[in-house]
Amino acid sequence: MSDEPRSPYPSSADPPDPFLHLYTERARQQQASSIREICKLGARPEVRSLAGGWPAPGTFPVEEVAEIARDVLASRGPDALQYCQTEGVTALRDAMARWASDKLGIPATRDHILITHGSQQGMDLIFRVLVEPGDVVLCGLPTYFGATGAVSALGGRLVGIPVDQDGLDAEAAAVRLEELRAEGARPKGIYIIPSFQNPAGVALSLARRQRLLALAKEHDLLIIEDDPYGELRFDGQPIPCCKALERAAGAEGRVVHIHSLSKTFAPGLRLAWVAADPGVVRRMVVAKQYVDTCTNTFGQYLLLEFVSRGLLERQIEANIAYYRGQRDALLSSLDRHFPSDRVRWNRPEGGLFVLVHLPEGMDADALSREALAHNVAFVSGAQFHHDGSGKNTFRLSFSQSSPEVMEEAVARIGALIRAKLGA
Ligand code: PMP
Repeated sequence: MSDEPRSPYPSSADPPDPFLHLYTERARQQQASSIREICKLGARPEVRSLAGGWPAPGTFPVEEVAEIARDVLASRGPDALQYCQTEGVTALRDAMARWASDKLGIPATRDHILITHGSQQGMDLIFRVLVEPGDVVLCGLPTYFGATGAVSALGGRLVGIPVDQDGLDAEAAAVRLEELRAEGARPKGIYIIPSFQNPAGVALSLARRQRLLALAKEHDLLIIEDDPYGELRFDGQPIPCCKALERAAGAEGRVVHIHSLSKTFAPGLRLAWVAADPGVVRRMVVAKQYVDTCTNTFGQYLLLEFVSRGLLERQIEANIAYYRGQRDALLSSLDRHFPSDRVRWNRPEGGLFVLVHLPEGMDADALSREALAHNVAFVSGAQFHHDGSGKNTFRLSFSQSSPEVMEEAVARIGALIRAKLGA
């Protein structure tokens, strides 16, 4: 479409780049995520999309933010537009430390808290601090490409651990860590998304959380706990995050908990907080100074006011109700249209995603291209497997499309799968 902005990502269709010889080897190697491309195609009006992981814009608290913005400018004046400390606005760090202790059982004070531009920045900073070329980070197969991309960008080595219905397989991680020890490799961290993982939608069981903490202690590692979805639980019992369990497990300070506000407040404000050992926070602060000096001050004051007025709790409740309805709609469409004897999928208790497993040998990437030709978009699972496995899986997001659109999309994908199975 001519009025669409050109993709910012390098591709073979681009004209020759006259400055290629000046770029670092790493910049030349880095691959754009094809997910962003498919999500862009999914945004076309004629496409029924189950691709995008972005939260539903209808949930954003636009009026409340407009009112708060006026109030913040009236009460704080130019301070609201000034730089702030790299650690974050002090009152917000205090408020997030209280949130961490009261709501999540994380014993935190201001010194444990760093405010970042989204959890993506939190991951980037912690991996910058931890990972030298060749250092190992364990991660799920599948897992979120934003984290694995941040490790690869630093020359880190990813070691994949299978993810099943109870999350990352901690016993497999234990075996792999022994092998790495024998090899003389240097594992520095385990990256986990504890609840309603992207893309698998599963939650890590309590027993596995405890096992991972024991492994972190035994192998002298940090756990990078990326938890953007934990507060979006629709049913079932909440499980404490690893950060809340670390002290009892004798692994105090070993969890770097990264808590996005993108799914509970507003992703465009780019806000997240990190709860970590104060020494780790100090290292991340130094790294952040050279990246962006500080997180945007105005956005931090908006969040502070939003939390102080009790609106974040209300927003989370409203989001849970909305996404629960969306999940139910997608699951019932799947029950109606997918051949459950040959294809399996999970029933997530929270978050935004369902992962579908096709029979072994069936290629989800090919299916996604065929679906796109029928104006249906979803993301194939190989993108979430850094080692190229998971080719028979794909992710469905129930975030943004209406139940009617999801029904049409699922019916179409179901028909394509049945045709392939029959062939
Ligand atoms: N981690 C996971 C698991 C995610 O799914 C996402 C976004 N989809 C992020 C981090 C990035 O979130 P943020 O907007 O806070 O950078």
